[in-house]
Amino acid sequence: MVKIALQITAALEHVEEFKPSGPEFRWYLTFTCNNCGEGTKKWNYVSLNESTPAQRGNAVNHFVNKCKLCARENSMTILEDSIKPYVADDEGKFQTIAVFDCRGLEPNDFWAKEGWIVKTADNGTKFTDVDLSEGTWADYCEKIKEPVEITDVKHRFERVK
Ligand SMILES: [Zn+2]
Repeated sequence: MVKIALQITAALEHVEEFKPSGPEFRWYLTFTCNNCGEGTKKWNYVSLNESTPAQRGNAVNHFVNKCKLCARENSMTILEDSIKPYVADDEGKFQTIAVFDCRGLEPNDFWAKEGWIVKTADNGTKFTDVDLSEGTWADYCEKIKEPVEITDVKHRFERVK
């Protein structure tokens, strides 16, 4: 079992934090099979709301995939407690927003896509269903009379001990 953290960084303007909407949020990922090294370019999503029982104990899988090349069955679980917002205090630094428990595969790419919640700074508007597909988003907060922006979203994967 390998725990892989998804870390992102972004440039923020009048944003206090942004985070995935909730358990229905879809994490779009591509994977590489650790057994044969076969990587796919196809986007799959994993969501806390969509799980299947794992073989052992009361664990669950959020993703199960049979590798097309070596036929091994690989799986992954989202660690619910690991999901955290990206906060303005650490702007410009990579922050872990989710950790995935990976068995036989590893994520190799992430697409932020949509379904984010953005809290404006200074008790401004809370925007829901924000689309970060293009790695950038902008709106205007009527409460604080300022533009609200997320730009330059980047990600990386880190192994966690
Ligand atoms: Zn394989």
